[in-house]
Amino acid sequence: MNNQAMEQEDETKPLWRHVSKLRKTSGGGNNLIKCSLCDFSFNGSYTRVRAHLLQLKGEGVRSCPKVSSSKLVEFIENRDVKEKKGPSTTCIS
Ligand SMILES: [Zn+2]
Repeated sequence: MNNQAMEQEDETKPLWRHVSKLRKTSGGGNNLIKCSLCDFSFNGSYTRVRAHLLQLKGEGVRSCPKVSSSKLVEFIENRDVKEKKGPSTTCIS
């Protein structure tokens, strides 16, 4: 049950700036999330926010059509700087 700690850690992560958390969803630490760039909404945690914005495959969320390759580089650079503060959240499910 360390979802709580992870979730708080997530608040500091830079990609949250590009999405809105609409509300909590039942079960686990998931939120209903809306992308500020493309208005797409989905259920999930930071893992999915990252998958959406960084156009990662395999997280069950579609990639963001509004992220250009230059923005993608910016996101990745931000992520690398900020995420050194904590352990990565690769553990889903
Ligand atoms: Zn998007």
